[in-house]
Amino acid sequence: MKERRLLMIPGPIEFTDEVLDEMSKPTLSHLDPAFIEEFGQALEKMRRVWLAPHGQPFAVAGSGTLAMELAAANITEPGDNVLVVHTGYFSDRMADIFRLHGANVDIVPSAVGDLPGPEAIRAQLKAKKYKALSVTHVDTSTGVRADVKNLAAAARETGALVVVDGVCAVAGEELRMEDWGVDIALTASQKAIGVPPGLALLVASEKALAAFNARKTPVRAYYCDWQYWLPVMQAYEARKPAYFGTPPVNLVRALNVSLAQILIEGIDARFMRHARNARAFRAGLSAIGLTYVPVREELYANTLTAAYYPEGVDAGLLSRIAEEGVVLAGGLHPSIKTKYFRIGHMGMSDASEILATLGAIERGLAKSGYAFDAGAAVAAAQAVYKKL
Ligand SMILES: *Cc1c(COP(=O)(O)O)cnc(C)c1O
Repeated sequence: MKERRLLMIPGPIEFTDEVLDEMSKPTLSHLDPAFIEEFGQALEKMRRVWLAPHGQPFAVAGSGTLAMELAAANITEPGDNVLVVHTGYFSDRMADIFRLHGANVDIVPSAVGDLPGPEAIRAQLKAKKYKALSVTHVDTSTGVRADVKNLAAAARETGALVVVDGVCAVAGEELRMEDWGVDIALTASQKAIGVPPGLALLVASEKALAAFNARKTPVRAYYCDWQYWLPVMQAYEARKPAYFGTPPVNLVRALNVSLAQILIEGIDARFMRHARNARAFRAGLSAIGLTYVPVREELYANTLTAAYYPEGVDAGLLSRIAEEGVVLAGGLHPSIKTKYFRIGHMGMSDASEILATLGAIERGLAKSGYAFDAGAAVAAAQAVYKKL
């Protein structure tokens, strides 16, 4: 067996050679002028990738969960009402974090694999004065993608801030932060941004910062508090030294390289490539009879696919696929955890990774005793790529 297997999970993903090379460079002082320049460039590029020319970027050592907490901690004051659009595991986590920071959280519920209806969300937004609406762009537990554009428009009519957990979406799914009126869009380095785990990334709108500046109570988390991070981010962008907590130097340098690669491809081309890969991948799985956790096609995410194991096959399939050289992820949503698996297709992955993954899934299914038309998955995906 090869030592190096293709990593097709919803983060960490496969990283480019240039990003990995950057990680292996000697670590500079966080106050070295060369590093200050690179950190400043990375922050400027975040604004372009988020499509938020007036946004304030933050890059802080931590995982995506820290990015979620940065958002909630800085805009929530005790007693604020926050409305959470229920999508699955990660919307539940966001609700917990908002509650911890003192919010009264209301949840617009949905069934597994579905979203709450837009009418229900609109009605709830009008029922009370909400400080913020929280939406998980792609819930990684279900592969469901929310309609951020329309939800943001509905929330803005009521004056609520729009917080988007884009951990499985930013730089993969279409997100036009400023055009759509999103106030906080957050992610982590190891997802579609294409950098090893360790960076919490967030862009805040002017309105989000104004809400922070108007606080009457202190932020209830020391490491999350924008009062410490904002001067640091502003200093690096002004190419000046600053310190609050030591930045993960190698990760920030790798971020600068990855964001440059994203911008060279072009953000729209990148959204389209993710959509094409997702289409090809699902054409493959559908051709061999697999079905999906999201209940309608319009909900299917472009960054990952959540598919049910076919009849007679269980989670043992994943180790058989790993033996074939591709690592996939098991279920995460507690109510269906053992019934489905997840495949990440974000970052630089293209036809070669998609076809290799489908091939490994076919071989794993064959070893699991599943009866299907061998080769049909790969052929169906090829047909999608050939049409383009
Ligand atoms: C991965 C993920 C998170 C959590 O990120 P960590 O880096 O694991 O803390 C949060 N939200 C979504 C939508 C995710 O996909």
